[in-house]
Amino acid sequence: MRAIKLMPVVEALKRGKHFAIIAHIAPDGDTIGSCLALANFLMDHGKTVELYCHDAPPESLAFLQGIRNFVRPGESGGSQAHSAYYDAVVCLDCSDEGRLGDAAFLLKRTSCTINIDHHATNTLYAGINVVEPGVSSTAELVFDLIQEMDGDYFSLPVYEAIYTGIATDTGGFGFSNTTPAAHRIAAQVIEYGLDVDRLTRLLFRNTTLARVRLLAKVLDSLEMHCDDKVAFLMVSKVMLEEAGLDENNTEGIVNYGIDIVGVECAALFKEVEKDKTKVSLRTKGAVDASALAVKFGGGGHARAAGCLINAGIEEAKGQVLEALKGMLE
Ligand code: 5GP
Ligand code: MN
Repeated sequence: MRAIKLMPVVEALKRGKHFAIIAHIAPDGDTIGSCLALANFLMDHGKTVELYCHDAPPESLAFLQGIRNFVRPGESGGSQAHSAYYDAVVCLDCSDEGRLGDAAFLLKRTSCTINIDHHATNTLYAGINVVEPGVSSTAELVFDLIQEMDGDYFSLPVYEAIYTGIATDTGGFGFSNTTPAAHRIAAQVIEYGLDVDRLTRLLFRNTTLARVRLLAKVLDSLEMHCDDKVAFLMVSKVMLEEAGLDENNTEGIVNYGIDIVGVECAALFKEVEKDKTKVSLRTKGAVDASALAVKFGGGGHARAAGCLINAGIEEAKGQVLEALKGMLE
């Protein structure tokens, strides 16, 4: 079934020669892993690829082959050279055009736009949309795509990128989106020679002293609400400055809230500008994180979602608490 849905993508990529591939803003392991897997695969098949992301990829993924090829659209005041035309522009793990950030204009540089994603909130903004909310990760769809295009293909860097996407989006094969297919792909990738211990250390066990110091401060901000069913954690600009870190260093902290027994919804409120708060949501039980995020113009999955609220942290907390009313068991 999925093979049929991927057919128009297979045809477009086989036919074309020059592509742009776009990762989402505030990129994670799935969007970066998916983009690098597809880009390296296409280049191994004689195609040329330009890789775009609104934000710099996280340093923690520096080990992935080709990661330095990501270009920020319009970098250096718009003087960056972008191709005038692409045979196709492929967006990976991007649920809506807003998630493309400044790379969105690239959609106009082609007559073939492709959107491959696993977010149920995807707005189907491209000419070809392959959106499968039932899969663990976009990387899983890219794996299927590569299999469809060339079943004999083998490249360890490409499969490391695929594994990175699946492993990060499933929280190391532990979240509710962990499917038998995710494990099957992992098994195949390990058979190809992937070093699980090395990858696990690079992806999950490589924190820094500065991050641990920040974590201590964020945990100290813990607030419980609604009979201890709701846990809020806060990250201010001052906390980040004191730790000497930028805002891309809070990945995973919200899990300390949702891991508390009895908590049904955890939120991490991060001050990005004076009146702009990024909210990371995690849920279990009755609360649908994606439905909550959508109320604030965001999106994501049932158990993990996010949104940007145009208010300071205190006001954003009040708004999320209000929206949560009636959603708890
Ligand atoms: P995180 O909390 O780790 O940043 O994101 C969790 C999930 O929610 C990811 O799948 C991410 O793509 C999605 N997400 C986070 N923030 C936003 C947002 O502002 N808009 C949308 N549409 N999805 C988001
Ligand atoms: Mn994803």
